[in-house]
Amino acid sequence: MTIVTPDYYKNFKCIADRCRHSCCIGWEIDIDDATFNKYDNLKGDFALKLKSNIEFEGTPHFRLDTTERCPFLNSNGLCDIITNLGEDMLCQICSDHPRFRNLYSDFTEVGLGLCCEAAAEIILTKKEKTSLSLTTEASQLPILNFREKLFGILQDRSLPIKNRVNNMLSLIDAYLPVDTNWYSVFYSLERMDKTWDDYLLRIKDGIETEADEHSLDTAYEQLLVYLIFRHFSDCQYDGKVKERVLLAALIYKVIKAMNTSNTLKELIEISRLYSCEIEYSDENINRLLSELSLYINPR
Ligand code: SF4
Repeated sequence: MTIVTPDYYKNFKCIADRCRHSCCIGWEIDIDDATFNKYDNLKGDFALKLKSNIEFEGTPHFRLDTTERCPFLNSNGLCDIITNLGEDMLCQICSDHPRFRNLYSDFTEVGLGLCCEAAAEIILTKKEKTSLSLTTEASQLPILNFREKLFGILQDRSLPIKNRVNNMLSLIDAYLPVDTNWYSVFYSLERMDKTWDDYLLRIKDGIETEADEHSLDTAYEQLLVYLIFRHFSDCQYDGKVKERVLLAALIYKVIKAMNTSNTLKELIEISRLYSCEIEYSDENINRLLSELSLYINPR
């Protein structure tokens, strides 16, 4: 089976106690069967603590405290399971995060999710064009071949990023309407973090921005390449080729409009929030794809 990864994939390392938005806070942490069995066989004081913090209703998961922290995230920002038992005893979801896997019949894609601030920094501060570990055979698969074309357009550094996005939309003969009230659309989605609501207010008057500032073009290129890498191949399942390209263009425009300070630091933070709020919710992604399909079918 071909495994496709972006070239920055190997650079990831969790920053643990230096992380300001730890994934050990606010997310349900399900325990997979294999890890559950390992925990079940443990003996000793720490094993007792471990087992007493598992909630058995539904899929077994760790019982978060009143501030939604994992009970094993200690006050130094380190994981007590790792310090007491070693990394091998983490459940699958903790070992994987922030990596994501997309499984297809001919290949599997593995990437880093923008929801993690360390991953977002690696992806969005990368200066060189991103490439994928594609074998010649895999690159001939029609879906991946077409996606490489999209990457080529997005990475044409002779043009401002706005023109590259327009060229990408021309290729699929679709357009992104500027008069849609995207604020209402995003506000109607499931939301978790109040900070995201504050950022949404920044697109109340629309998502069009001034075209003359290009200092962050490379970072926006990386964002767009990430979005196409992460979401485009799923069109094999739902046939939504144009919608998935439009989705990347929409998210780029929304994040750019929210980044009123036009700084890389804020771009990284908004991208991280977008990822937590939107792309880790199938329901939210599907709602946006449905909305975007309205602008394709009538043409
Ligand atoms: S969000 Fe990323 S950097 Fe922070 S604790 Fe989780 S994996 Fe580590």
